Amino acid sequence: MFDPVELQSKLSRADPGYYTLETCSEIARKLDRVVDLKRERNAVLLAHNYQRPEIFEVANFTGDSLGLALQAAEVEDAEVIIFCGVHFMAETAKVVSPSRKVILPNLQAGCSLADTADADDLTERIEELRREYSDLGVVCYVNTTAAVKALCDACCTSANAVDVIRAMPNRNILYVPDKNMAAYAASQLPEKNIIPWDGYCYVHHEIQPEAIQRIQATNPDIKVLVHPECRDDVIRLADAALSTSGMVNYARSSEADRFLAVTECGLSDLLAIQVPDKRFYRACKICRYMKMITLEDVITSLERLEPEITLPEEVARGAERAIRRMFELTASDRMPSSLMSID
Ligand code: SF4
Repeated sequence: MFDPVELQSKLSRADPGYYTLETCSEIARKLDRVVDLKRERNAVLLAHNYQRPEIFEVANFTGDSLGLALQAAEVEDAEVIIFCGVHFMAETAKVVSPSRKVILPNLQAGCSLADTADADDLTERIEELRREYSDLGVVCYVNTTAAVKALCDACCTSANAVDVIRAMPNRNILYVPDKNMAAYAASQLPEKNIIPWDGYCYVHHEIQPEAIQRIQATNPDIKVLVHPECRDDVIRLADAALSTSGMVNYARSSEADRFLAVTECGLSDLLAIQVPDKRFYRACKICRYMKMITLEDVITSLERLEPEITLPEEVARGAERAIRRMFELTASDRMPSSLMSID
């Protein structure tokens, strides 16, 4: 059973104004209900790093989208995956765990970045570019729909985008959909011609360099960790450009005690809760999609086992091929057994 006092002491590190004892008493009651339902349904609950702090309390795993999908695939006896994240993430979990029921507790939780790349538009753009570049390779960020992944040669994450593009045999690469990540990869790989798709994440794109410079001016020793979805003039101010999970690992293992995590605000909340002995400053923005899933949604989805995420077979197989290629190109030993067995 969740204790409201302990809960408040923990969650108020993220937002002391919101997580009052009264609010935490209500949250504790709902968390107890989620724990019971998860057991009844034999469900594993995944929470992306940007979710509401109370969701982390009932998560079997917390992390970035592909990492979560892979961890869930390795839980042998789970029948249901509850994905607290956004739509493309639940699709990825379905691709990696095809035999399980995958539930997204609120179907409104989409992603403006993934929405910038439509599968039909991408098909046209690939045809157009192949007339100009016969060796064109197509790499997509994991923040894309499964239908888009199915059209690409390889998928990548924010942590391995540069390594995947470097390992591709093609010199000319169409990178979909984040133009900021494409620019960052191009700065690291002058030997490649990286053609960006014209998409961006509205959350990261809105973060201005002045917000970071103001904090650096009064904290010259602070470590600035920036997500590669940020603009180039923001990335240039970073001590490290890292994925969300990379930021968590960096903050835990670094000898520094003050950090500025430049990404969606949920990560700052997570860091404040999980690394209480260090101090985290904020130059972040809130993603409206990532905050849509509430504990009420989780309870309802576990009671009804919906809304379920399903994929056409050919889309699932195509997306799976692109994800598998990512593991092959990076010689990663993290390829899940569910992907290794596919021809
Ligand atoms: S933070 Fe950006 S990329 Fe992530 S879900 Fe929100 S809109 Fe999409």
